[in-house]
Amino acid sequence: MIGVIANGADQEVAREFFELFKTPWEFYRPGQPYEVVLCAAEVPIEVAAKLVLVYSGRKTRFDDEQNIFIGHQICEFRILAYKDTQLPIYGSTVSFHREGTALLAHHESGECAAFFGQVGGSAFVRIGYDLFAEIRALLTTGQPPAQAHIPTLELHIALLRLWILGCGIPVEEIPPVPEGYRFIACLTHDVDHPFLRKHKWDHTSIGFLFRTVVLWFWDLIGGRTTLQNVVTNWVATLKLPFIHLGLAKDFWSDFDERYAAAEQGLPSTFFVIPFEGRKGIGIEGAAPKRRAAGYGARDVAGIIRRLRNTGHEVCLHGIDAWCDPEKAREEIEEILRLTGTAEIGVRMHWLYQNGQTASVLDQAGADYDSTAGYGVTVGYRAGSTQAFKPFGADRLLELPMHAMDTALFYLSYLGLNHREAMERLAPMFESATRFGGCMTINWHDRSLAPERLWGRSYGEILAELRKRDPWFATAGDAVAWFRKRRGARFVTAAGEPGKAQVARPGADCARELPGLRLRTYQPRTIGEFEWPSVEDYIDQPLEEVGAGVPALRER
Ligand SMILES: [Zn+2]
Repeated sequence: MIGVIANGADQEVAREFFELFKTPWEFYRPGQPYEVVLCAAEVPIEVAAKLVLVYSGRKTRFDDEQNIFIGHQICEFRILAYKDTQLPIYGSTVSFHREGTALLAHHESGECAAFFGQVGGSAFVRIGYDLFAEIRALLTTGQPPAQAHIPTLELHIALLRLWILGCGIPVEEIPPVPEGYRFIACLTHDVDHPFLRKHKWDHTSIGFLFRTVVLWFWDLIGGRTTLQNVVTNWVATLKLPFIHLGLAKDFWSDFDERYAAAEQGLPSTFFVIPFEGRKGIGIEGAAPKRRAAGYGARDVAGIIRRLRNTGHEVCLHGIDAWCDPEKAREEIEEILRLTGTAEIGVRMHWLYQNGQTASVLDQAGADYDSTAGYGVTVGYRAGSTQAFKPFGADRLLELPMHAMDTALFYLSYLGLNHREAMERLAPMFESATRFGGCMTINWHDRSLAPERLWGRSYGEILAELRKRDPWFATAGDAVAWFRKRRGARFVTAAGEPGKAQVARPGADCARELPGLRLRTYQPRTIGEFEWPSVEDYIDQPLEEVGAGVPALRER
């Protein structure tokens, strides 16, 4: 059991952090015995534990008492490093004057940023940054695109676990890994352009012609397309007049069939725009005219029905729901009317969001949002592979979006070719396997059709995912599983203060979800700080472990 000391303002962040690192903890109560005390405020004088972790990006009273010599205090972005692992820090850091091995060092100067010490019979780790300030920054503003590739929040969890184990103390947790699988894979599709025939002489159709008639040569020499695709696109271009006359099949309108063929029965999630021709409110003033979609959800009612009948999820691709509570309700109702479901998720068109979005969507009745991601690159905006509860929301969870086709391939964004895109994604497959959680892919509705023809990359992503044995889930099911994990609790064992028992959540009758597992890490010899491998822990299904403890919630 970890006793956590946090300032009042950081308590909600601490609560969320320990939903993501689901291990026994409570706010520190004086006089209680703890194996580990995590201190993110001033260290109380009487604190006694096997291990005290002191996080602070400034000089503390603890430093004076332990004769710790502080080096530089820096209040700007820094990269810290432990062996090959880099950890970005967005708030203040201090360095320490000391010899010997550091548990973290400043990447550029090599100065010590965290170290391990022993006083009497107990150990301490002094870490020169503010943990909860970092977690708050990640879950609110998020990381800039330059650090997108680093799953920073997962690393904060991994380092804390590493330090506890390296001080000879075992760790119990419920990892973000569904029972029977390695991680969760969510395949999602933003439906922006389901009908080419609805675009006569607008931005979309002119862009189509520009890319098939002019840009093909640059794409070919840049390795971003193949000769076969160029020819396919020329044929598609010749068909354009006939599509507009209704004499040829609109090759954007069968996106559901193209995805069914590519995904071979895997469940996926489609985000559909509610109303045609609304550009909506912009981040600064009115949104550009081209944000307005050339269709509304009712135009694809038949496709929605087919998708629902074949095990897929259909949700809201919101226009104004990110900032206007009334419009959020109107947009949600329009999609619910067509899907006939009780719950609905949201991803905003053009990934619009601000600090109020979570609370606006929550109050409008959305189950989850999946907007937190980058339009310009791929990676971890919140630094996490896990669904989390944004501050300001009561129930809504945020399912991060990790990799989007247009960010990979558009020249104005990463502009990668197929091989480079797969290389860019390779460490993300690794991170999903290492940390668990979810990997959320967004491939747009028209991306398998001319003129994008990005089916080869999508096929390879699916093959790479399948090799790693994830639970393929709709976004709604993935969120429900994270909610089920949040429902599990460690409770103090009767008569054994400091020892935790796990109470499993009650069954959610509405969905069939994989189980949870209890993971127990064996401790290391004191002072041995090595990343744990699969040999260092044992997993047990939570259904068995929690059998003796009453379920928390029965429906
Ligand atoms: Zn969109």
